[in-house]
Amino acid sequence: MSAPPDPSELRIDADRLLARIDELGQIGRIDGPNGEWGNARLALTDEDRAGRDLVVAWMRDLGLDVVVDAIGNVVATRAGVDSTLAPVMVGSHIDTVGTGGRFDGNLGVLAGLEIVETLERAGVTTERPFQVAFFTDEEGSRFAPDMLGSLVYVGGLPLEEALDLVAADDGARLGDELERIGYAGPVPCPTASAPHAYLELHIEQGPILEAEGITIGVVEGVQGISWTEVVIVGQSAHAGTTPMRLRHDPVYCAGAIATYVRDLTRHLGAEQVGTVGRIDVYPNLVNVVPARVVMTVDLRNTDDRVLQEAESRLGTFLDELAGMEGVSITTNSLARFEPVEFDASMVDLVEASAQRLGHSTKRMPSGAGHDAQMLARICPTAMVFTPSVNGLSHNIAEFTEATDIAAGANVLLQVVLDRLDVRRS
Ligand SMILES: [Zn+2]
Repeated sequence: MSAPPDPSELRIDADRLLARIDELGQIGRIDGPNGEWGNARLALTDEDRAGRDLVVAWMRDLGLDVVVDAIGNVVATRAGVDSTLAPVMVGSHIDTVGTGGRFDGNLGVLAGLEIVETLERAGVTTERPFQVAFFTDEEGSRFAPDMLGSLVYVGGLPLEEALDLVAADDGARLGDELERIGYAGPVPCPTASAPHAYLELHIEQGPILEAEGITIGVVEGVQGISWTEVVIVGQSAHAGTTPMRLRHDPVYCAGAIATYVRDLTRHLGAEQVGTVGRIDVYPNLVNVVPARVVMTVDLRNTDDRVLQEAESRLGTFLDELAGMEGVSITTNSLARFEPVEFDASMVDLVEASAQRLGHSTKRMPSGAGHDAQMLARICPTAMVFTPSVNGLSHNIAEFTEATDIAAGANVLLQVVLDRLDVRRS
């Protein structure tokens, strides 16, 4: 038997990683008209269960010790030489939005399994245990807030409160759905022990790396996020007989709010982004002035002071609008997370590891929320980004080139090896 390789020479098998991404992607697969394909595996649906079952089977096949916690997070451990040492954890999520790609989240989890397989085949033992985790309901499409499982994992939201959340689509209770799909696990959550370090490989989900021809994004932190649900109640009326001056029209208000959000981002500078992503109209009929609108506003910024300014201006606008149109407007915060800065030494390590492998790098914030921002509350954390073709994500046309997947996974491997304390057996 040949001696194990120098850890710095270890490389992942990109074909094996891509094969797992493709196989997981078959569950809840959506095909587009031009050969593009993605997934719908909304949190705690039957498709999510099937995806979980497949990944757990892979974890067991690799000899990992798999545990499920009370919010359905799954953590698989490869033992280290010293089981008393805190583990190095790699993780992300395998739930998707309703029109999701097959890389978002899945890449980070399956790259973790690929690292395990690489270490196994090379006969590498490590001082510290190594963990691969996937967290429940990262997307928040079905149960807000997003990053829910990792938030509960780090103690940021009480378990009981999370279990009582209700699905936006069908009104199901989160705890009941967890039970139904068999992932209400026995392990207490929040976790009793913090990892030694947490790493997450993720697609950029934006256009910057591709536009600048850069292979590896070195993520310095995550934008602050503010999600507000806005409920506008007016008066349902006949579209033909009701004079315009007597209307109290919630859809008119919804349009004004969407326009205001765009104007707000223009006034607050390039870092401020704002989105109206959901508008539900009741009764939603052609000849009826609507009675009610429920809509969402998503505001994000890397600077929390500016984000607070955006929230405050939106609030003032809503009050004025309600008065002008004679409707009632109420708001409900669905999610509010401050910007997060990752651990400086971990960020440096990601950058140095990528450069040592010969890749171009760029330091950047994450525009999207990630489980890593929650783990950053309890341990040194960093993220690795790979380019997204055309910047697309939350879209079935989401794609990342195989060479970029390989580059990102190899950077992840090298950072993990650095933190694991490798022993050459
Ligand atoms: Zn994601």
